[in-house]
Amino acid sequence: IIEAVALRKSYGNHEVLKGLDLSLARGEVVALIGPSGSGKSTFIRCLNHMEVPTDGTIRFRQKTVGDAFRDKGEEIGYGTLRRHVGMVFQHFNLFPHKTVLQNVIEGPITVLKRPKKEAEELALDLLGQVGLAAKRNDYPNHLSGGQKQRVAIARALAMQPEVLLLDEVTSALDPELVGEVLAVIRGLAEKGMTMAIVTHEMAFAADVSSRVLFLDQGVIAATGSPEEIIRNPANERLRGFVSRFH
Ligand code: ATP
Ligand code: MG
Repeated sequence: IIEAVALRKSYGNHEVLKGLDLSLARGEVVALIGPSGSGKSTFIRCLNHMEVPTDGTIRFRQKTVGDAFRDKGEEIGYGTLRRHVGMVFQHFNLFPHKTVLQNVIEGPITVLKRPKKEAEELALDLLGQVGLAAKRNDYPNHLSGGQKQRVAIARALAMQPEVLLLDEVTSALDPELVGEVLAVIRGLAEKGMTMAIVTHEMAFAADVSSRVLFLDQGVIAATGSPEEIIRNPANERLRGFVSRFH
């Protein structure tokens, strides 16, 4: 459903991504692991065009993503791409002056032009799925980190994305709150959501993904099943990396 072909990204003279390829099938979950600075965030931000690649191609539903906001002939615009490819970050970026429910309905109403009632019904359903229906009228600063992150996930899902990109969504959480967020993501995987997940939680990555990519210095240094990459890594560098997070 989404593909990166020979993707490169430089900041000035610094080449951060050095020709990456990834093809994500519908319903597939891939985990991206790798040292700090290896380019994981840059890579998934390129996938939904939050960062503009320096070279290479993104394809979505077999169409090349162009550099125009709108669709143009055979090219798909990055406006369309972003609407179908949701993203959740390490820091939740909820609107502090809006309630939980208002946060979740904002996108569907303003971007998708959904009627308020319809947006609210979907939002309540999603809040139920992440276990927060009872918090619908609370403000984000009254929630725990884990609850905020679950609202952020519900908000991304409210846009009914076809692909969800998750960038270290548990890294800012207290350890005791990590599990509840991982459980929500695991539930999404079981329902067939297509996801690319950047994480340092090795056990979780191994458990939730069907394929793991190890990024190192801007290249995919290893790729394979969770078994090959995480549980039983063959090469020395990979073994060293994975063992530090176990
Ligand atoms: P982490 O695990 O710490 O989140 P990462 O694998 O996500 O790391 P990136 O954030 O993608 O790594 O960064 C890759 C490299 O690109 C780093 O060297 C970083 O300094 C550089 N970089 C990222 N964003 C920018 C930017 N906006 N301008 C300049 N350099 C950047
Ligand atoms: Mg990062």
